[in-house]
Amino acid sequence: IVISSPSGTGKTTICKKLLEFDKNLHLSISVTTRKKRQNEVDGVDYFFKSKDDFFQLKSSNSFIETALVFENYYGTLKSEVLDKLSDGKDVIIDIDWQGTRQIHNKMKEKLVKIFLLPPSLKELERRLSNRASDTKKEINFRMSKAVKEIKHYEEYDYVLINSDLNDTFNKILKIIDTERLKIFRQTSIKKFVSNLSYS
Ligand code: 5GP
Repeated sequence: IVISSPSGTGKTTICKKLLEFDKNLHLSISVTTRKKRQNEVDGVDYFFKSKDDFFQLKSSNSFIETALVFENYYGTLKSEVLDKLSDGKDVIIDIDWQGTRQIHNKMKEKLVKIFLLPPSLKELERRLSNRASDTKKEINFRMSKAVKEIKHYEEYDYVLINSDLNDTFNKILKIIDTERLKIFRQTSIKKFVSNLSYS
């Protein structure tokens, strides 16, 4: 399950809430060359790596996708997604549109793509300004990126306007519940139906 949005839309908060609520979900931890923010923890929020280490992982084919976002490299590790899927977990991936496209090309309909929109650009700017960790220059840069990111919403399966965090959270839970009912995801249904004998 990919969740994309311009940064500051509330995505991280929603993803953390989803994990608390549904123990069958795993949140993929990305690798980044971005500097760690004050409140972030290595191995929890991201795996913070040098560019050299990032490209070493890339050349050893460890990533499902990589992208350059805000002048920093980001990548989704195969171990964070494929291994967890094998363990029977559903995986949430918080990445941008570039990474979503790459994973979609590999996984097709197995990937559920959700896009979150801010209620307005003014509100987005307010939320980014409240995040004390970012400088004014960084906020302006993220605002211009947000406008570009939003243009890709049509590449997704679901689009939600995040005016209210709880409402958005509940809608995402509904999407996940519904997607789990799709026939191709119900791997034991064939056996169940063949046992429905009547005599
Ligand atoms: P931030 O630096 O604010 O945590 O994230 C910046 C942007 O990078 C967000 O839109 C986030 O979704 C995206 N991002 C985070 N991890 C990855 C990743 O592994 N791959 C890609 N393509 N984008 C990522």
